[in-house]
Amino acid sequence: MSTLGDSTRCVHAGVPALSPGDPLQPGPVFAAPYALPPDGYEPGVDGYGRGDNPTRRVLEAAIADLEGGDTLAFPSGQAAVSAVLMTVLRPGDTVMLPADGYYNVRTFASSFLTSSGISVVEAPTAGPYPSFDGVRLVLLESPANPSLDVVDIAEVSAAAHAAGTLVAVDNTAATPLGQRPLDLGADISVASGTKALSGHSDLLLGYVSTRSAALYEAMASWRTLGGAIPSPFDAWLARRSLSTLDLRLRQQTANARALATFLREHPAVTGVRWPGLPTDPSYAVATRQMRRIPGIIGFTLPSAAAVADFLRASTLVTAATSFGGLHTTADRREQWGDRTAPGFVRLSCGIEDTDDLLADFTSALSA
Ligand SMILES: *Cc1c(COP(=O)(O)O)cnc(C)c1O
Repeated sequence: MSTLGDSTRCVHAGVPALSPGDPLQPGPVFAAPYALPPDGYEPGVDGYGRGDNPTRRVLEAAIADLEGGDTLAFPSGQAAVSAVLMTVLRPGDTVMLPADGYYNVRTFASSFLTSSGISVVEAPTAGPYPSFDGVRLVLLESPANPSLDVVDIAEVSAAAHAAGTLVAVDNTAATPLGQRPLDLGADISVASGTKALSGHSDLLLGYVSTRSAALYEAMASWRTLGGAIPSPFDAWLARRSLSTLDLRLRQQTANARALATFLREHPAVTGVRWPGLPTDPSYAVATRQMRRIPGIIGFTLPSAAAVADFLRASTLVTAATSFGGLHTTADRREQWGDRTAPGFVRLSCGIEDTDDLLADFTSALSA
């Protein structure tokens, strides 16, 4: 890994060297077909937008630098996760999914994998993990969304590899500045770039990173043949947003630390999860494994109505799903079918000033 600091890497990652007269921030290249040489297609010359786009390559080079593996960008996190599942799994295989992770992945599995003869088993992120014997692929999610449990990726990867099981890690919540799953032994890091990675709540994106040439080729071919490519404009916005990733995460984590500490003491709050709290069940493994703790908190109010009252009284917290953006948002997860209490809120800390958020929470929770 480069010895440069996180912000330096985020500003420069993937960006080609400039020549005099070049714009510091080159614009996106929009293209369906490109002009071909008169003798016909030549490998290395861009031919058609589904396979080739220079703006997408810049974003992929940037994420590759941060994740430490060859990277393919997808138009959403779900497109990236499904690329992993559809290229690795064959009828008769078994896949192990997180029981407490992103619900859409389980729904994809029950909708499209089981009917193709693939068996799906679930394991809680915090363990215990059942035997990996006969399991083709285990997908880990750490920290898991929304449980915020953390798994020791190196330990589980070693156990899975001993059984011949491939390991993919959903790195959405952590981002590559929080942890690098490939360094911890995973075969694939897969993530939604819709959340903190791009962080401005204005695009959907996903990616996969791997050091395996075979897995990379399989997923690249899946993408070109399946057609799930991000637009050049979204790829450009995402690379542009990456420059401030370290700054945004720093403020989100600082806000999460202050709000989690505040919520833990508040009489109206019946439970708080934030892996950066020393009292959190995931604290030990999170602080050992991760370089920074994300700005996502889970907290519980007595009922769904209490959450609605809190949201009505707050002036700074917006009800919204997704997380990792500039604005502080709250999402009552049960409404989406998550296996959580009716009053459970996933709070995504934005980059607002900490004191303003604390004052807003103080008055909104007393209302
Ligand atoms: C949001 C999310 C996804 C899916 O990403 P989209 O960009 O919404 O398709 C996958 N995994 C996790 C952990 C997520 O939070």
